[in-house]
Amino acid sequence: PPADPAREARIRELSRAHVLTSWSAQKAIDPLPLAGGEGAWFWDYQGRRFLDFSSQLVNVNLGYQHPGLTAAIQEAAGRITTVAPSFYEESRAEAAAAVAQVAPEGLEKVFFTNGGAEANENAIRLARQHTGRHKILAAYRSYHGATAGAIALTGEARRWGSEPAIPGVVHFWGPFLYRSEFYSADEEQESERALEHLRRTVLAEGPHTLAAIILETVVGSAGLIPPPPGYLQGVRDLCDEHGIMLILDEVMAGFGRTGAWFALDHWDVRPDLLTFAKGVNSGYVPLGGVVMSQEIAASFDERPYPGGLTYSGHALATASAVAAIRIMREERTMENATQVGQTALGPGLRSLADRHEVVGDVRGLGVFWAVELVADRRTREPLAADRMKALQQACVRRGLWPMVNANRVHVVPPCVISPAEAKEGVALLDEALAEVTS
Ligand code: PLP
Repeated sequence: PPADPAREARIRELSRAHVLTSWSAQKAIDPLPLAGGEGAWFWDYQGRRFLDFSSQLVNVNLGYQHPGLTAAIQEAAGRITTVAPSFYEESRAEAAAAVAQVAPEGLEKVFFTNGGAEANENAIRLARQHTGRHKILAAYRSYHGATAGAIALTGEARRWGSEPAIPGVVHFWGPFLYRSEFYSADEEQESERALEHLRRTVLAEGPHTLAAIILETVVGSAGLIPPPPGYLQGVRDLCDEHGIMLILDEVMAGFGRTGAWFALDHWDVRPDLLTFAKGVNSGYVPLGGVVMSQEIAASFDERPYPGGLTYSGHALATASAVAAIRIMREERTMENATQVGQTALGPGLRSLADRHEVVGDVRGLGVFWAVELVADRRTREPLAADRMKALQQACVRRGLWPMVNANRVHVVPPCVISPAEAKEGVALLDEALAEVTS
């Protein structure tokens, strides 16, 4: 890509004057103007190319400018661009059927939204309406979005600036062996103890007051934490025992990220409500949604569902989802993500621990990994923020775009990255670690 400094300068100037950037003190940031991309790469206006180990916000699963996906959006735009939810529409119908087909058995009906936060908002509304109960249990290590309800569900510090958020949300500790709340010695013990803690939380809150328990199947931005063996099934059993709805948030983990349609496929657990967004259409047009059980859907056969959005099932968004799901099948995207995880990212990232004392833990699956960095392996004290910033800059200088989150590097490239590209990225991360820790 040719350099275009004049254009870059204008984008910076207009953005600084008129765009409020998420989650940031505006004077503390200097975002890179992004010019274009292809596959697992994007480029800027200085002619620099970057291998994307972030997939933007872990959503560009099919990579940049997938020709089949952009063509489907163009084709849909030529037909009709927007149709209110009060009509039936072809792309919406096809997308709902396609999502239901890849979702677990018995989840058949979809309520579409514009993204993940609204998906979780509607999941809790559906659970409350269906059960007639009001409280929701959510994990401390979680991110569920930034609207009033979704931020209330969110367990970590991003919630604090929005409090008081909606009432009726209670938090509990999920399992995480590396930083266990339960002094566990291994994954089995962590799973058992976390389940016991959740059981006691349910009893203390009053099971009859609980509409739902919401969990990220694999915790994403709050730590990248796959669940230990037996945990999800244990939560499912606890929900069944007390008539509580299980909501699995697959906004980040779904549609290829873990090498499966949904992360829950690895643990064979069936939620009552499943929320999705991001990878459903690789973010090319804003889209999210909730897939619900037949029982929950049936609650709104005779009485109205008290919720709606002008763009619920937007024609361009749903057309892109239909295309994305078809492309993932045709191009065997899941298989690629699995292979990249098994042959390149897993072994490559684990080997970083042999060479760099700062690597405290490596965990993940598919194209969904975290490298957790520590100042001291024994105490597991997180590596300081200035060293993480230096690492990020060292990666960027080498043409690798990492996702740095607290003391972790989340390694979350597009699912279409090749094993060779993934190895190239790990080698650059290796060099960057050597630079900042020498
Ligand atoms: N849930 C999870 C697990 C997420 O990772 C995110 C976004 O990162 C959301 C919900 C919120 O999605 P959105 O930003 O599309 O509202």
